[in-house]
Amino acid sequence: MTSALVLLDHDRGALSDTALQAVAFAGSLGFDLEPVLIGDGAESLVPELGGLGVSKVHVIGHELLTDFAPEAWGDSLAQLVVVSGAKVAITTGTDRGNEVMAHLGAILDQPMVANVTKADPGAPWKLSRIRWGGSLFEHVELEAPFQLLTVAPHSWEALEPDSSPAPAVEHFEPTLDETAARTRVVDRVTLNAGITLATAPVVVSGGRGVGSAEGFAPLEELASMLGGVVGCSRVVTNNGWRPHTDQVGQTGTRIAPELYIACGISGAIQHWVGAMASKKILAINTDPEANMMSKADYAVVGDLHEVVPALIKALK
Ligand SMILES: Cc1cc2nc3c(=O)[nH]c(=O)nc-3n(C[C@H](O)[C@H](O)[C@H](O)COP(=O)(O)OP(=O)(O)OC[C@H]3O[C@@H](n4cnc5c(N)ncnc54)[C@H](O)[C@@H]3O)c2cc1C
Repeated sequence: MTSALVLLDHDRGALSDTALQAVAFAGSLGFDLEPVLIGDGAESLVPELGGLGVSKVHVIGHELLTDFAPEAWGDSLAQLVVVSGAKVAITTGTDRGNEVMAHLGAILDQPMVANVTKADPGAPWKLSRIRWGGSLFEHVELEAPFQLLTVAPHSWEALEPDSSPAPAVEHFEPTLDETAARTRVVDRVTLNAGITLATAPVVVSGGRGVGSAEGFAPLEELASMLGGVVGCSRVVTNNGWRPHTDQVGQTGTRIAPELYIACGISGAIQHWVGAMASKKILAINTDPEANMMSKADYAVVGDLHEVVPALIKALK
């Protein structure tokens, strides 16, 4: 059976929430899946991978493979492709996943298709992918001896591991020299402690309708009562009311919370593409015709300066 390598993105031993979405996508294609983990902390994840329907996991180790290093990861994967005989490589369409796959494609001299939502393997492969920040779906055909894909984040439900025995580990040590690690993390500063916009179960977002930086205080209170965080539209960051790290959208963060509360946000396409994977949406807007109101599961027509305090009062 054709085997497919599935690179599982992780951050220092914490699996990315999109990694098992890529496994779900890859599993739907009917190949023999061989997940791959690279770098420090990788092997500690193997016991968490029971019940995924895979018999072995490749763990790639080398003294240059510590933290994320896209060139070195791509180079290592290219060598594993040769050794394993795999004909397909898949990972998540995050910034990191796309960067590693671009290096792999360059090394193997093979085309790469990013942000795929559906694939029909055949000759040629027929694929659907998201373009332009989610505002365009494109159908493409891919003819290549080796298929290189990334999966659009949140386009597939993540597979849930269970308590089944963990897959076997196959260690692989690539041949790397210093030039393979020209880009590597040497330091980083965490701006958000605890839950982040990308992982919060509830996001309470404000747009132009909030009116000022101070106007976000009730949204902060509501978010904290619901165990969530505050997000915002680009108008808000442009006005300097919130930092860019809070921005939801095409040029901000893509989110997929259980609940998205959009207060005074019109729902422009560039905002919507960042919020559309939310499981449920509540929109609060004075304009019943606003785009966000027609897309939301629940809509309250009203002034957010009255509705949000009323919600807080009711919750208390
Ligand atoms: C290349 C590009 C990339 C972009 N990337 C992003 C992005 O990542 N994220 C993003 O958000 N935008 C992005 N934008 C901007 C986007 O096009 C919109 O301009 C922006 O999302 C609008 O923000 P808004 O909804 O807060 O403001 P508006 O569109 O002005 O809407 C304000 C809404 O608030 C309502 N309102 C006003 N007062 C109240 C009140 N008191 N109570 C309740 N409702 C009220 C109004 O009815 C209106 O619906 C991008 C644009 C471009 C060109």
